[in-house]
Amino acid sequence: MTDNVDVAVIGSGMGALSAAALLAQRGLKVHIFEQNYLPGGCTSAYWRKGFVFEAGATTLVGLDEGMPLRQVLDRTGISLPAKQLTLPMQVHLSNGQVINRYQDLEQWIQEAERVFGPKNQRAFWEFCYRVSQFVWDTSVKQVHFPPSSIKDLLKSAQRASLKQVNYARYALFSMKWLLEKYDLLENQTFVDFVDEQLLITAQNQHPEVNVLFGATALCYTNYGNYYLDGGLISLVQPFVDYVEAKGGKLHLRTGVKNVANTAKNYLITTDKGDQYSAEYVISGIPINNTLPLFEGNWKGKLEKKLMVSEQLNSAFQMGIGFKPHREFEALHHQIHLDKPLAETGSHSIFISLSDPDDTSRSDEPGLRVMSISTHVPNPSKRIIDNEKVAQEILKKLFEDDILLPENIIYQHHSGPKSWQKWTGRAFGFVGGYPQFRHIKPWQMLDARLDGHKAYICGDTTYPGQGIPGVTLSGLIAFEKLKSDWL
Ligand SMILES: Cc1cc2nc3c(=O)[nH]c(=O)nc-3n(C[C@H](O)[C@H](O)[C@H](O)COP(=O)(O)OP(=O)(O)OC[C@H]3O[C@@H](n4cnc5c(N)ncnc54)[C@H](O)[C@@H]3O)c2cc1C
Repeated sequence: MTDNVDVAVIGSGMGALSAAALLAQRGLKVHIFEQNYLPGGCTSAYWRKGFVFEAGATTLVGLDEGMPLRQVLDRTGISLPAKQLTLPMQVHLSNGQVINRYQDLEQWIQEAERVFGPKNQRAFWEFCYRVSQFVWDTSVKQVHFPPSSIKDLLKSAQRASLKQVNYARYALFSMKWLLEKYDLLENQTFVDFVDEQLLITAQNQHPEVNVLFGATALCYTNYGNYYLDGGLISLVQPFVDYVEAKGGKLHLRTGVKNVANTAKNYLITTDKGDQYSAEYVISGIPINNTLPLFEGNWKGKLEKKLMVSEQLNSAFQMGIGFKPHREFEALHHQIHLDKPLAETGSHSIFISLSDPDDTSRSDEPGLRVMSISTHVPNPSKRIIDNEKVAQEILKKLFEDDILLPENIIYQHHSGPKSWQKWTGRAFGFVGGYPQFRHIKPWQMLDARLDGHKAYICGDTTYPGQGIPGVTLSGLIAFEKLKSDWL
């Protein structure tokens, strides 16, 4: 028997859930198919051995006025009990200096001048902040970008201002150009700082990342950063609840195996052998995973958009349940290493702690959870020994007095193979599509997939990067579907 649904959504990552919630809000019957046992993909959290560990993402921005996540929440009425962090992040440089990444721009500039010297820090950061404000402001207004129909072009042109045309040119320049412009390229401590910060937000470094994206990525901590009790599954679950309250359904442990185009609808076949007929399809999985599922001769033109391992990253991760022996000034810490990790080549590790007041992260009061991650470049070629990486990281944490060996209650670690299993992603690549100089924003993958009623979102499409990017990609997929058919 074939069930009829209005929309079949493949995957329950934050891109897909954003589109799903907006479509459910329009009154469509939305069914979400998720191969894993939990929703959320790279933004999720799971219970193990008495602790709730984050699956991937740990930092959350996008709730400020005008930002994409705020837009989706406002349009649907989904509410999140998010707590705003007073200090978004600390960065521990390899020379031992600790930098507070204050949200307030003035406070942050003074901090940057203290650590990197006064020369041009103010001008650099004021410029980056202006660009980031422009990008956030424009992104939610230009939801028909990148244009792939005459209608898109007209709508984008109608909404374009002189300011937008002026700022758009920065997509043509790299962050290297910007550092040179402010005479900061010789300040090696600063360039190293910029590179490691860009890596966690843009997945690449200053020679490759364009100014529009790079400046926005560097100002990530100058916007409201939030924490949700219970881990980031607390971001995901309200979206699922909303879709279900509107008559939709999340099918867990149900992978989509095939999408065929019938005369009227799409026919979705799951790995359980069930079939669903859907008028619309939203694919919330990467293009490499999406194309093999679909039938049809339209796919050829998208083959050049497939991602190759050499351009991508996976992640090595650790989850530690521990008894704290000290206080921490911030929940998020980027630690720069004096020598790269032998197995991964990483120059930094990223550590996020559970909030001390969040009692839901551990079965035992007083214990906390530490999530640690670092990049694994070219994951299909780089075979890493997870145990060796874990030992090298633990040594660093003990040396820096972040953790005491005897205070570890439980720890586990995982690498690209686990990501492949958790998300189904080709070679376990995660974290989004790295920024490259030769790919301009208008050349990134568009939401219209087959030129008909199938759309794509998530972190391999425009503007897909992190939770803010994929939320916006879901919003864009929804807007394009709405403008085409609803
Ligand atoms: C270690 C790490 C740390 C990160 N840190 C941050 C951070 O601090 N802040 C931030 O904003 N971002 C962070 N990110 C990035 C962010 O998590 C991702 O960019 C984002 O969550 C990706 O969302 P997505 O919509 O692309 O979907 P995904 O998260 O990729 O989810 C896709 C879902 O589809 C499912 N699926 C796959 N194939 C099928 C199929 N055939 N049928 C059914 N279901 C299928 C998968 O199981 C998965 O649940 C981090 C990522 C990682 C890996």
